[in-house]
Formats: sequence, structure tokens, C-alpha cells
Amino acid sequence: MESSSITDIRRTGVMLVLSSPSGAGKSSIARSLLDNVQGFELSISVTTRQRRPSEIAGMHYHFKTIREFEILRESGELLEWAEVHGNFYGTLRKPVEEAIVAGRDMLFDIDWQGAAQLRKAMPEDVVSIFILPPTMNELLARLKRRAEDPEDVIATRLKNARFEIEQWRDYDYVVINEDLDQAFQSVNAIVEAERLRRQRRPGLEDFVARLLSETPE
Ligand code: 5GP
Repeated sequence: MESSSITDIRRTGVMLVLSSPSGAGKSSIARSLLDNVQGFELSISVTTRQRRPSEIAGMHYHFKTIREFEILRESGELLEWAEVHGNFYGTLRKPVEEAIVAGRDMLFDIDWQGAAQLRKAMPEDVVSIFILPPTMNELLARLKRRAEDPEDVIATRLKNARFEIEQWRDYDYVVINEDLDQAFQSVNAIVEAERLRRQRRPGLEDFVARLLSETPE
């Protein structure tokens, strides 16, 4: 529980969207943010992709069959969805809407198609950051280092990377991830600034009204 003081102003949550081609280090930055920045929670997507050995259902993804995914999509329970590398991925609507109204910040590790849909659905709330690798060689090295994916999956992801990188202009911010710690510091600076944005802080009305009603002695 964060301690509250007179200058804690009620605000709505930040919807922070991180996108990048696979292997640009987005997941590491996301993890640093969740571990080190107070008040962030991860939006856990639904996917039809096979679970990786290191992944835990309900923590990394909600793993679904294609039929289950279609039911969620058709009943309007997804805020956005996309097909990425041959699998379906989507964001559940309810947890996001609840978090934003309650002033809790949410992190989205989603692709450019999902980012575009979120931006359209909730333009006031979304802040988007595109993470770029320093070189294509480094991107391939990181994809291979992960070693959890088979060769053909790595090849597909590298092929898709060029197209994904071309979407960079649609994002509010771009961070080049040459050094993980520095990239995280940049993302953190963006978060700190966005939390202070006037439009996100309806509580400022009351604060300023009170301030102006004071008569200094
Ligand atoms: P991975 O299979 O490596 O976990 O994710 C593959 C890609 O799907 C990544 O670029 C990731 O950001 C994206 N992704 C994960 N969840 C979602 C989601 O809910 N919606 C969309 N549009 N993309 C997602």
C-alpha cells in the first residue's frame, strides 16, 4: 500500500504498451518495470500458442484452445486481438477497464496490431513505446540465446521482425535497447512523466480549488 499525503492526487491509470520484434529485449524491460516500479501490473493475455516449458499458465498467459479463443472474441470480452506468428493473442477487457478507473497502471506486452487497436479504443489512456534492437545481428543472437523455440520458429520470427520494425512511427516513444539497464531507465522516465500528465489527474481540480481557498498567514 502506497502511503498517501496531501499532494497525492487522484488519477487514472497509465496503459503502457511495449512493442518490439521478438528478441529486442522487450520482455526483460517489462520484467524490470514490474520488479522495480511500484504500482505496475502486467496484463495477462490469452493465447492459442503452445506453452513454453518455462511458462506458467495464468502468470505468463492464459492458454486457450482456438475454440475457446473464438468464444471470447465473439462475446466481446477482448479489448484487442491479433494473429501473431500463426497464433492468436488477445487482451481481456474487464481487468484493464477496472485497473484504469481505479488508477492502477498496466503494462501490455503486445504487438503493433494490438497496440493500434488499444490506441483507438482508449486514446486518452494509452502510452506506447517501441523497443528497437541496436543491430539485426544482435536481434538474431538474442533470438537464438533464448533457445526455447525450435529453429523454424526462430526463422519465422526473424523474417517477421523487419515488418514489425517498420511500424515504429506509430508509437509515442522509441527506445533503442543497446544496454538493458539504460533502456529500462528511459522507460522509467517516460512512466514518471506520463503519471504526471494533467489529463490523467482529475483529482487536480479539488486540489487546486482547496489550494486557492487557503489564506496564507
Ligand atoms: P510470444 O509468443 O513470444 O510470447 O509473443 C509473440 C508476440 O505476440 C509478441 O510480440 C507479443 O508482444 C505479442 N502478444 C502477446 N500478447 C498479445 C496480445 O494480447 N495481443 C497482441 N496483439 N499481441 C500480443
